[in-house]
Amino acid sequence: MTRTLLTADAILTQDMASPQVEALVLDGGLVVATGSRKDMAEHAGPETRRLDLAGATVIPGLIESHIHPTYAGLTGGWADCRTPPCASITDIQGALRNSTPSHGWIRGWGYDDTQLREGRHLTRDDLDAVCTDRPIIVLHISGHFAVANTVALATAGIDESTVDPGDSQFPRGADGRLTGMAWEIDAVARLSGAIPDLTQAEVQTALLRSLTLARSRGITAVHDLGVGLSAGMQELAAYRALDTKGEMPVHTVGFLRGDLAIAELEEGNIAFTAAPAPGSRFRLAGAKFWADGSIQGLSAALRTPYTCSPNHHGDLLYPQEQLDDMVLQVHREGGQVAVHANGDAAVAAAIAALRSAHRSDGRRARHRIEHCQVSRPADLEAIRDAEIGVSFFVNHVFHWGDRHRDRFLGPERAGNLDPLACADDIGLKFGLHSDCPITPMDPLQTIRTAVNRLTMGGAVLGAHQRIGVQRAVQAMTVDSAYLVHDEGRVGILAPGRRADLVALDGTLAALADASSDIPQPALVMVDGR
Ligand SMILES: [Zn+2]
Repeated sequence: MTRTLLTADAILTQDMASPQVEALVLDGGLVVATGSRKDMAEHAGPETRRLDLAGATVIPGLIESHIHPTYAGLTGGWADCRTPPCASITDIQGALRNSTPSHGWIRGWGYDDTQLREGRHLTRDDLDAVCTDRPIIVLHISGHFAVANTVALATAGIDESTVDPGDSQFPRGADGRLTGMAWEIDAVARLSGAIPDLTQAEVQTALLRSLTLARSRGITAVHDLGVGLSAGMQELAAYRALDTKGEMPVHTVGFLRGDLAIAELEEGNIAFTAAPAPGSRFRLAGAKFWADGSIQGLSAALRTPYTCSPNHHGDLLYPQEQLDDMVLQVHREGGQVAVHANGDAAVAAAIAALRSAHRSDGRRARHRIEHCQVSRPADLEAIRDAEIGVSFFVNHVFHWGDRHRDRFLGPERAGNLDPLACADDIGLKFGLHSDCPITPMDPLQTIRTAVNRLTMGGAVLGAHQRIGVQRAVQAMTVDSAYLVHDEGRVGILAPGRRADLVALDGTLAALADASSDIPQPALVMVDGR
């Protein structure tokens, strides 16, 4: 690969030893030197490619620490039931009628009961009105619920006599009849199990669609928090195939869906690794478990009740001992464990399970808590003291912040949603994420939300939890690399680190300023290419 001399107005390396430079020398996919234009010119010869990015701000490639690439890629072929574009159940029915079935199923995604004119969840009757001779399944925006029509329920073998799986449910109406809803992850998995398997080519196409989009948004590495969520072990095979073909658009660190991980470990089919093989852009780091559901679905486990439902605080998806046991099975095999926890009761359960794994053999695996949206200062201190990582779902402030304040959590808890300033104050390292497709994958918008905490309705949600733009960039570079043991490879622009970078067409000050357009990626490099 040709040696490259890259110069720009501002290269913000995130390397404390040399935070701002004028020039980088890249070779063999790595940064080999950083410094002034004059000093770096000495590393250039007649063959050196010169790239002058005048006017640009160069930062390390952004790291999206929690997305679902296969799921996000597949949604491109399904009916878009989000609000917007759908304002009502009638709109959703129209979108489903206009969509192209996949393997005989009509698929929809993204409906949000709290945004619809009717203010309620979909039912099987709503979907039967669309079609009675084909199965239909529509996923809720949270990804934690799905609704099926009568044909889909029958195809999945689910009827009024079906026993609810664990703490998941197939809710019945007052008349005892199934409503069509699959409530929480295990029930959704049971229902989705009836959908014909995707082909390997379809899974690879979905992955490529998402990872290519990621790269175009300035992302050079993603963490897939639930490999297998949409297409089972086909997803792991798709990653390995794309990686072998050299077609991975960005680096990816995967966490296998927990139940799959336990089954595959028992068969001896998988192994976890804390470092990529040379030349590889994919590795399987560990597994992901769910401690609770979603706040907007009222299934996050809170210590105190929901504001809109004073007798309900949401339950843990598993008893503590069961969560401890699942976590331990992956910990023992050398894996990194990520636990989904939105509510503070779930955060406490996740901390307890991860600490229990630590105690089993003394190994600190840098396990993670995902989302951590409602959490108290004492929880954050416990996370820090246990050497657990955390990635905050700060996009919620923008997308659901108004409803968290007015409906689900009330002003005090909503003001402390995704408490980034608290986390920073106590020295916690943390990532930020979109959970795409739950919210759009747009890391520069994510950074802006962390900085100004503006909601979709234009209000500021908890000004005291704002962080500075430099701290937010650090979260999506240095800290996110740390979350997966990648700090020696990426996250800063320094000699020996991967030449993963993004050049923005504006300054970080403009990125922070809510009154100006968000600077956009003008150039993205992964491994210097
Ligand atoms: Zn997720």
